[in-house]
Order: sequence, then C-alpha cells, then structure tokens
Amino acid sequence: MVDLHYLAEADRLEIYGGVGEALALARAHGFRIVCVTNQSGIERGLVTREDVERIHARLNERLRAAGAHVDAFYYCPHLPEHKCRCRKPGTELFERARRDLDLELNRSAIVGDRWLDIEAGRRLGIPTALVPPPGHEAEIEAELREHGAIPDVRARTFRAAVLRVLARG
Ligand SMILES: [Zn+2]
Repeated sequence: MVDLHYLAEADRLEIYGGVGEALALARAHGFRIVCVTNQSGIERGLVTREDVERIHARLNERLRAAGAHVDAFYYCPHLPEHKCRCRKPGTELFERARRDLDLELNRSAIVGDRWLDIEAGRRLGIPTALVPPPGHEAEIEAELREHGAIPDVRARTFRAAVLRVLARG
C-alpha cells in the first residue's frame, strides 16, 4: 500500500502493483493476512477512526478484485509521546492478532516499510522483510541504522518480499 501520510479520503488510496497477487499467493500457502498500522493522525485530529476504517474497507474491496483480502486490521490511534504498547514497534496489536486469529508466530513473517516494522518483528521473534517506499530508500536505511534494526530480507517490491518469505519455508 502506498503510505499516504494521514490519508483521510478513501478515494485517494493507491495500492502498489502486484500486492493483491502476492497476498493471494501467501494465502494459497496457508498464511493469514493481517495489517497492523500506526495511525497517530487520529489523536492529532487529522483523521477520524471512521476515515481509517473506511480506508481499510476500501483496501479490502480493491484487493478482492485481485482474489485477495486482509483478514484483520489493527491500528494504534495514539501519539508516539503517549508511549502506549500498541504503537509499533510495540507488539500489543500483533499479540492481539495472534489471539484473535489463532496465529502461530513462529510460522509468521512481517513485511514492512520502516524500522518500526523490523523492530516489532525482532521483539516478537518473527522474520522480517523490508520494502522501502520507492524514492525513500536512503532515509529508510538511515532510520534502520539509527535504531539498529536489521531486516532478514530486503526487497524492492512487496511481491518480491512475499516470494522471498515463501521461499524461506
Ligand atoms: Zn497505541
């Protein structure tokens, strides 16, 4: 998904090419698909919970056209300074997904576009794949270094990341 910061309008949602296909492939391999996001725009008053939920619903509508869908969405609405446990790299939302969907963390993987995702994976003991947003590779790598976060896999597209995760078995 293209990360439009504090995206408020579902009509502006963009999904990268190959994402639907890759999610369908992961599902065919027995994976459940969970989306965990930080949405501090809610506490900042830039977007509402309804906006965020509408976008998730729209994302799923569009993914269904590619034979895929997300099983569950979890979002943290808090500001970083609140130091909640649900904001990534906190692990609470992943733990909640594990309980809700009866997931096996040792057979899971996290595909993310920032150090927060990679650090969450480290805390959970889940392998991680980094897919930096095109054009932001340098700043994403700088963030990783700053936080000492090391992804297991680096890929240029979401699809390539999923293929690498599946190949690891
Ligand atoms: Zn939170």
